[in-house]
Amino acid sequence: ATRSSRLPGFHRRSMEERWRELALRGDLTPEELRVLCALDAPHLDVVNQMIENAVGVFALPLGLGLNLTVNGRDHLVPMVVEEPSVIAAVSLASKLVREAGGFLAEASTSMMIGQVQLTGYGDPELARARLLAGREHLLALANSFHPSLEKRGGGACDLQVRILPAPEGPHAEPLLIVHLLVDTQEAMGANLINTMAEGIAPLVEQMTGGRVYLRILSNLADQRLARASCRIPVASLAGLGTSGQDIAEGILQASRFARADPYRAATHNKGVMNGIDAVAIATGQDWRAIEAGAHAYACRDGRYGPLTNWTMEDGHLVGRIELPLALGLVGGPIKVHPGAQLGLKLLGVSTVRELSMVFAAVGLAQNLAAVRALGSVGIQKGHMAMHARCVAVTAGARGADVEKVVRLLVERGNIKVEAAREILAALQA
Ligand code: NDP
Repeated sequence: ATRSSRLPGFHRRSMEERWRELALRGDLTPEELRVLCALDAPHLDVVNQMIENAVGVFALPLGLGLNLTVNGRDHLVPMVVEEPSVIAAVSLASKLVREAGGFLAEASTSMMIGQVQLTGYGDPELARARLLAGREHLLALANSFHPSLEKRGGGACDLQVRILPAPEGPHAEPLLIVHLLVDTQEAMGANLINTMAEGIAPLVEQMTGGRVYLRILSNLADQRLARASCRIPVASLAGLGTSGQDIAEGILQASRFARADPYRAATHNKGVMNGIDAVAIATGQDWRAIEAGAHAYACRDGRYGPLTNWTMEDGHLVGRIELPLALGLVGGPIKVHPGAQLGLKLLGVSTVRELSMVFAAVGLAQNLAAVRALGSVGIQKGHMAMHARCVAVTAGARGADVEKVVRLLVERGNIKVEAAREILAALQA
């Protein structure tokens, strides 16, 4: 029961009460809680190991996404995000889905792609044939650079040779790109793959007589996909003063819009990534890599489209998401950054595949919240109330004054710093 992600009334509790609950639910020691919630002075020695020219730490809010259940398991979702409404939205949508049985999700193995660019190879078909004939040799060489990965059941396992037409420019030679497929197991894998891609380059040159230029992973990790889905009875969607049928219709219209129009799809996917990026940061993932992969995948058919899709099936609204997720439980900053470690502990996953499934479910939940509001009352009502808090603080309100100023700003429907200053001055007069 302690692992339940249902924490009714959590948002109304004081910060201290939330810490107590968090420590209990996440099985955190007082020291771990201090690290996770940044109650201690920033660990300057740690940041100094992470990047160059470090001068300090830039803090962002950490919150908890609630109610998430994936494949019958509850997960508390640590989220680092500066934007109001994201966490409330994901918690609300997760609650709707939870009452309908929760998210179902699946993820592939951690198959990543390393690219080696070959030039000056002569006849492209002959070069390709030589490389494919030397496949076993190249794979063995790649694995020799990271034998422990192979011992764990992963490692380089396939090789493909792609010939691409030359883009416009002074070079007429078609591009010859070797793809090395590597199962990076519990790691995101960028460094592992880059080492292997650089390692096999001399043999690629030797086999073909060509010259290698770039050797690096591809962030379009389309061999490493995660999927999540949910199925909600239409009647239980009712809310926001609207019937379930109307809410469902709004969501279907939002889905059509995103499939038909890249201008809408970009915003639709930004909403998906609101959730995924926040949990990515909280767990030490490379969110630029995730972003790059997601948007490139959204464009895989040559036209940018939505990462999620909503349909109606037997009186149920069904949502699906599919996207590449190159995540890690080891590697990069994950073991170095104590906050990332604790974020992962809180999330309660034991494999990187499970982590990917939770990320996919968070993305779908975030999208559900957005399209549910957008297809009915709109998001401004909820957003402006949250925005008003920021405006009140900007105008100088502190402590109990913040809520008072927010209430009056929302009542007057004029959420501007100037208005907040006037309200504050009147309160303090
Ligand atoms: P690491 O280079 O830290 O490699 C992961 C290490 O974890 C391996 O060397 C392996 O060492 C160890 N390990 C322990 N247990 C396991 C396990 N079960 N499965 C797999 N590995 C295990 O990290 P990555 O290769 O994942 O690289 C990620 C970093 O690369 C990120 O920080 C990212 O920002 C960065 N990066 C990203 C790029 C991009 O996206 N374009 C480009 C370049 C870098 P051993 O086998 O010896 O135990």
